[in-house]
Amino acid sequence: MNIKDVIRTIPDYPKPGIMFRDITTLLGNAQAFRRAVDELVQPWAGAKIDKVAGIEARGFILGGAVAHQLSAGFVPIRKKGKLPYETVSIAYSLEYGVDEMEMHRDALVPGEKVILVDDLIATGGTAEGAVKLISEMGAELLAACFIVDLPELGGRRKLEAMGVPVRTLVDFEGH
Ligand code: AMP
Repeated sequence: MNIKDVIRTIPDYPKPGIMFRDITTLLGNAQAFRRAVDELVQPWAGAKIDKVAGIEARGFILGGAVAHQLSAGFVPIRKKGKLPYETVSIAYSLEYGVDEMEMHRDALVPGEKVILVDDLIATGGTAEGAVKLISEMGAELLAACFIVDLPELGGRRKLEAMGVPVRTLVDFEGH
């Protein structure tokens, strides 16, 4: 079983020219889901990780499983206006324009060791925002983990230039 083979590609979704890499087919395959989570956390097996931060929404599914595997807490990073308590927020760049993401202001304590999780890194704009939020809270970001990298879009290089180690499991060409 190859992780790449169980990720479904939907051409021209959500708009023409985009090849949508749909990980729901991976999540629905028990063996593939376990393998992906095991491989994401493999570098930190036995390490003391305090929190896993997951980016809404697919990063919640993977991040929850990763947190369980590492015996760490889970912290949701959500779109603006979704979290009920006091938040810290940051603007981040989308393909067109900007949006905001938020975290509860007491979700991380300075010095905590954190891993960031999402399903896919493309331009890296979303992850960059999350990295800044985590850093602003004074936490120590050990790595950012994604199942899919779209290398042509440069997101991995963007995060690495910020000093964040990046772990990805499979590459796809194009957008
Ligand atoms: P970016 O900020 O450009 O790195 O985009 C990453 C976010 O957008 C992630 O949360 C992905 O789930 C989603 N995303 C971007 N491009 C794709 C794609 N081709 N297929 C599936 N999800 C994507």
